[in-house]
Amino acid sequence: MLREVYRICPKCGTSNDVSANFCLKCGNKLTTANEKPLIKHGGRFSTVLDQLDLTDKERTLTTGILITKDNIPVGNQFEDTVYAEATVKVSQGIQLGFERLAKHLYSTLVSLEFGGVANLTINSSFVPEADGTTMYLVAYGDGFKKIDQHN
Ligand SMILES: [Zn+2]
Repeated sequence: MLREVYRICPKCGTSNDVSANFCLKCGNKLTTANEKPLIKHGGRFSTVLDQLDLTDKERTLTTGILITKDNIPVGNQFEDTVYAEATVKVSQGIQLGFERLAKHLYSTLVSLEFGGVANLTINSSFVPEADGTTMYLVAYGDGFKKIDQHN
C-alpha cells in the first residue's frame, strides 16, 4: 500500500515512513513539521536538486539548467529528445526514485551541454516483484540549447 505522506529528513533528505520519529539514515529527530506529500507525477526538480548529493562542480553545472513542462523558452532551440530512467523499490520511498530520476536527467543534460528540457513528461509504473514492488520512472522531453548568436 502506497503512503500519501512521508517524513522528509531536513538534515539529509531521506524519505522516512510517516510514523517515523527519527530518520532511518542519520537519526535526526522528525516531527509532523517534516511531513511532505508524495510527489505523484513529478514535481519541481529545483526542490529535488537541493536534496541531491552533488559535488560543487556538478552543482555549478546544474545552475541555469531549466527543466519545465512548458514549451522551449524564447532564445533557445530544440536539439534532441532527451530521456532519463530510474527505478526504486517502493519500500525505499518513492521520493528516492524521483531524486534518482532528477539526477539522471541533470547529468544527461550536463553531459550533452543542453540548456534544459521542455515539454517534460514523466511516466511511472509499478511492478510487483518477489522482493517488493518496484517503481519504474521515465522522464522525457525536448532538450534545448541557447540559439547560437554567431549563426
Ligand atoms: Zn536524516
